[in-house]
Amino acid sequence: MRIKMFGYLTIFTVIVLVVIWLLQVVFLDDIYRATKKHEIKIATGRVAAAAGKDTFEKAVYDMASRYNTCVSVYQISGSTGSLLLEAHTQTYCMIHSSLMTDATLNAIYAGALNRNLYTSVYQMDTKEGLESMICAKLAEGNGTGKLLIILNAEIQPVTATVSTLRYQLIMITGILLVVSAVMAYVISSKVTRPVAAMNREAKKLARGDYDVNFQGGEFRETAELGRTLNYAAQELSKLDALQKELIANISHDLRTPLTMISGYSEVMRDIPGEVTPENMQIIIDETRRLSSLVNDMLDLSRITSGSRQPNKTLFSLTQCVRDTLERFSHLRERDGYCFVFEAQEEICVKADQVLILQVLYNLICNAVNYTGADKRVIVRQTREGENCRISVTDTGEGIAEEKLPLIWDRYYRGGDFHKRGVAGTGLGLSIVKNALVLHNAPFGVSSRKGEGSTFWFELQIARISGEE
Ligand code: ADP
Repeated sequence: MRIKMFGYLTIFTVIVLVVIWLLQVVFLDDIYRATKKHEIKIATGRVAAAAGKDTFEKAVYDMASRYNTCVSVYQISGSTGSLLLEAHTQTYCMIHSSLMTDATLNAIYAGALNRNLYTSVYQMDTKEGLESMICAKLAEGNGTGKLLIILNAEIQPVTATVSTLRYQLIMITGILLVVSAVMAYVISSKVTRPVAAMNREAKKLARGDYDVNFQGGEFRETAELGRTLNYAAQELSKLDALQKELIANISHDLRTPLTMISGYSEVMRDIPGEVTPENMQIIIDETRRLSSLVNDMLDLSRITSGSRQPNKTLFSLTQCVRDTLERFSHLRERDGYCFVFEAQEEICVKADQVLILQVLYNLICNAVNYTGADKRVIVRQTREGENCRISVTDTGEGIAEEKLPLIWDRYYRGGDFHKRGVAGTGLGLSIVKNALVLHNAPFGVSSRKGEGSTFWFELQIARISGEE
C-alpha cells in the first residue's frame, strides 16, 4: 500500500511538474510575446482613440509610461509625414534608432493603411537577441488630416529566465519527491495500521474469541468499518451466549419428557396392571412436548432462512382464531382455563394461512403459559382503519419494560415463571415476529409488570362477510 501510494503521489507530482515545465519553459517565449503584443495593441488603440481630442498628448505619455513603450505620432499630409509628438521611455527603441529610415517608416505606413492595427517585429541586436515590437495605427487628427501612431515595445530574450526556471524546477522536483515519500508513508501508516489491527482482531473473532475491539483509526470509512465489526462481534457473542443457553435449556427440556416416556414405558412393560389410559396419556403428552420443541426449531429456521415465502390466499381470520382456540379446548375442560373471543364481524384477509395460524397459536400458547391465577385468556378482533387487529391478552405477571425489546429475540427466555410447565424454547415470539415481518404486518406488545400483557398484530382486511 505504501509503495502504491508513493507511486500515485509521484505520478501526480510528475504531471504537475510537466504542466509547469510546459508553461514556464517551453511556451514561455510564445506566451511572453503574445502578452506583449496584446499590451501594445491595447496601448495603440487607446492612443488612437484619444486622437483629435484635448487629452491626446496626455494619452500618449500615459500609455508610454503605463505599458513601458515608446510612442511617435506623425502628421500625414499628402505623401509626406512630419513628426508631431513623441514619448521616449526605452533604451532599445526601434522608432528612435537609426533603424527607423524613411523606407521603414513608409513600410509601416503602408502596413497601417492596409490593416486596422499593424504589428511587426524588428531585430535590434542579434548578439544580445534584442527585438522591438512595433504597432501602428492611423487615426483622424483634429481637422489637420490623418495621424500615424507608432508604438514600440522592447522584447527581451527569455533564455536567462528559462535557465533560472529550469534550475528552480529541478529543485522543486526534488523537494516534491521527498514530500511525496513522506506523505505516502504518513497516509499509508494511518490507513494500514488500523486495517492490520482490525485484521488481527478479526482472526481472534474467527477463533471464537468475542473479547475483541476493532479500532478504525481516524478515517471516517475505517472508523465506520470498526464500529460495524464491533457491532457484529457483539451480536455474534450475544447469539453464541443465547445458543449455549438454548442448548442447556433444550437438553434439559428434552431430558425431562424423555425420562418420563422411558420411565412410564418401562413400568407399563414390566407391570401389566400399569397399562392404564392415564399412563398412556402421560407418554402422549410428553411426546407432544418433544415434537412441539422440534417443530418450533424447524419452523424458525425455515422462516428465517428465506426458503419459506408467504403463500397468500384469501381466508377468514376470525375462523382461524376460533380454530386455534379450539386446539386449546382440552385445557378448558381439564385445567379450567377460560378463553374469551370478542369479534364483531367475520373478517377475511389475504395472507399465508399456515403462518398466521402459527402466529395465533404461539401468542395464545404464551398467554396460556403466562396468564394469572384466573386462567383467563382474551382474544379480541377489532378494526383499525383498513386493518384488522388481533390482540391476545392475559392476566399474568406481565413483562418488565426493559425486557420488552428482548422478548422477540431468538432463544430469549425471560424468568422461569411458566404457569403450566410447558416446555418453552425461547423461539415462539421469534417465529411470530419473522412470520409477521414476511407479511409486512404491524405487530407489538403492551405490558406492565404485574398487570398482564397484550400481544397484537394487524393484517389488511380483504373482505368483511357480515355481522357475527
Ligand atoms: P418461550 O418459549 O420462552 O415462551 P417465546 O419466544 O414465546 O419463548 O417468549 C419469549 C419470552 O417472552 C418468554 O420466555 C417470556 O419471558 C416472555 N413472554 C412471552 N409471552 C409472554 C406473556 N404473555 N406474558 C409474559 N411474558 C411473556
